Amino acid sequence: MPGGIWVYAEQKDGKLKKVTLELLSAARKIADEQKEELCAVLTGRDVAGLAGTLAEYGADKVYLLQSEDLENYTTDGYTSAVTALVREHQPSVFLLGYTVLGRDLAAHVAQRLDTGLFTDCVDVRLEDGQLVFKRPIYAGKAFFEGVCPEARPVMATVRPNVLPVNPPQAGRTAQVIEVNPQPGSIRQIIRDVVRQVSTRPELTEADIIVSGGRGMKGPENFRLLEELADVLGAAVGASRAAVDAGWAPHSMQVGQTGKTVSPTLYIACGISGAIQHLAGMGSSKYIVAINKDPEANIFKVADYGIVGDLFEVVPLLIQEFKKL
Ligand code: FAD
Repeated sequence: MPGGIWVYAEQKDGKLKKVTLELLSAARKIADEQKEELCAVLTGRDVAGLAGTLAEYGADKVYLLQSEDLENYTTDGYTSAVTALVREHQPSVFLLGYTVLGRDLAAHVAQRLDTGLFTDCVDVRLEDGQLVFKRPIYAGKAFFEGVCPEARPVMATVRPNVLPVNPPQAGRTAQVIEVNPQPGSIRQIIRDVVRQVSTRPELTEADIIVSGGRGMKGPENFRLLEELADVLGAAVGASRAAVDAGWAPHSMQVGQTGKTVSPTLYIACGISGAIQHLAGMGSSKYIVAINKDPEANIFKVADYGIVGDLFEVVPLLIQEFKKL
């Protein structure tokens, strides 16, 4: 049996990222059709308890790389440990999430292995026995589909929220292989890791996002969006204009130079819809735009548009959603 279809099982604070389950679901189908094993690569400290969930979502085998040095992500430490494992087992495919960690790790591992990497994919499918990777190009204006017949493993990062998750199979088990990782990190964390605590979902994984732009007029008005977000169980995002003005942190920026998001519902408030913003949210399933300018570009991509003053519309939405 060839080296297998591999998925990097990204976790944070002992909780698997949703994109891991999305990748496992897509990879399960590929593994079945290719008659290969589906293997998950799990790194961290005290994360063995997650192997059961990986099995229930389709993994046949879990490579468990646990060590104190792998508790927090470091580029060199994780790259060394994961590259060594890939070299030893020679998978045919290696999929990671298009997350902050996945983007960094995939690029470094692919470089060390001198192999091909498709980034920011929105689909991975088998066609005539070939794996086809689909990704947006020109800031989302067009799509590119590519195959990589020669390089092994073929690597790809896949955007969170674009692939469906199969229901878990309770009681399904996987072979867990403990690997003694040699992270070889030259970095050490000499102070505390600062964590942002929020009750709202993480932007890249959120099912609903409420985003504000320059039309918000000031940082104090983001409270209005937070209120709407809390009623909907949503995350809050921002355009670069709002971030550059200092109204929102860069971690909230959506777009070409910010985060790429694919929620089911994206509500854009006071955002004009510049191509660089659309590049980060254009693959949202439903887009709702609230803008007082009927000619705003955002209406070209919106499924539902409200032409009006957001300071009148958003409070009305909050009021109505509270009734549900
Ligand atoms: P504006 O374009 O100023 O739009 C504000 C909108 O608010 C207008 O349409 C206006 O009609 C509306 N409005 C005003 N008041 C109200 C009101 N009371 N009620 C309702 N509507 C109202 N941008 C990003 O967002 N993300 C990126 O990652 C990004 N990366 C970039 C990278 C590069 C290399 C470059 C050159 C640019 C990038 N930009 C990015 C910037 C982008 O080009 C736009 O400048 C930016 O997206 C504009 O933000 P905005 O829509 O909030 O502001």
